[in-house]
Amino acid sequence: MKAKQDIRALTKTELRDFFVSKGQQAFRGNQVYEWLWGKAVHHFEDMTNISKETRLFLSENFVINHIKVDHIQRAADGTIKNALKLHDGLVVESVLIPVKNRTTACVSSQVGCSLNCKFCATARLKRMRNLNPDEIYDQVVVINQQSLLYRHQKLSNIVFMGMGEPLLNYNNVLAAIDKITTDDGLGMSPKRITVSTVGIPKMIKKLADDEVKFNLAVSLHSAIDEIRSKMMPINEVSPIADLLEALQYWYTKTKRRITFEYVVWNGINDRQADVDALVTLCRKIPVKVNLIEYNAIDDGLFQQAAPEAIQNYVKNLEANGIVVNVRHSRGKDIDAACGQLANKSAVGNE
Ligand code: SAH
Repeated sequence: MKAKQDIRALTKTELRDFFVSKGQQAFRGNQVYEWLWGKAVHHFEDMTNISKETRLFLSENFVINHIKVDHIQRAADGTIKNALKLHDGLVVESVLIPVKNRTTACVSSQVGCSLNCKFCATARLKRMRNLNPDEIYDQVVVINQQSLLYRHQKLSNIVFMGMGEPLLNYNNVLAAIDKITTDDGLGMSPKRITVSTVGIPKMIKKLADDEVKFNLAVSLHSAIDEIRSKMMPINEVSPIADLLEALQYWYTKTKRRITFEYVVWNGINDRQADVDALVTLCRKIPVKVNLIEYNAIDDGLFQQAAPEAIQNYVKNLEANGIVVNVRHSRGKDIDAACGQLANKSAVGNE
């Protein structure tokens, strides 16, 4: 028997057309679409304004693939890490991060990752597959529900800083963001969404051409090619000059300031020459720098630099009028911090 199609792979128009092709009225398609996305139901039986026969007929033709919360861990600081099981048994992780009076969701875009950044735990899982738009969307729904339950407030921000490289799953990430931001879906503002990338110039230009309305963060970690290439192999293919050119293109088109994410490691990028190179780069394009705390992954190869080295970055950036924030990690006791999502649990994907 042919496997039934996932109904959420259909656009609203396709859903309307499906009803028409079965001799029913097109508006049924809108109703079902609202149940699938706005209300995010998992079962056709829950679509209460749809007749019993229609629900039966839908279940004969389609399935609703949805993610299941497999495992939840709550950290002392309120961070919640979710291991989410996909319909094919693979697992991804999504994190609820409490930030003062807001709640941020950190979501995954791929199962595993292909980029092999030396300091990142997800790199150890090879890339298994891209997530579908509904699988990205469902992560946001789950975190929003948890935010309502535990924090009595709606989710306010989304960062694509979980597993995977969002720009290598471009179409699905954009389709998911479209659903997250339209009134048919969750109606969130794109200004509250940040996509974080290793920096793939061609795809950054494509984002600008596609006139996306969300924010862009780039994992820089060094403004010196030789050092960046050692930490992030992607830099050998797309060196900093190419990245900068793409970011300038983005800025010219969107007028939105980019965020550089930057970890300072002991003996790797903590010299004055590293600071100077970052300052020089930041003067070429409007950016904000987030200095993020390193979360050690088990092998102990890298260590977070001394506080003085971080303060030296802050001092030099500020002296040059560049906005800089020092970001402390959340949920460290449960391995929910950046780059740690694959740690320990290895989430059953072997
Ligand atoms: N692939 C995307 C998004 C996932 S990583 C990207 O590279 O941006 C999200 C952020 O966590 C990136 O800035 C990444 O460089 C950072 N990161 C990865 N491992 C880390 C670790 N062990 N400690 C601190 N930050 C880490």
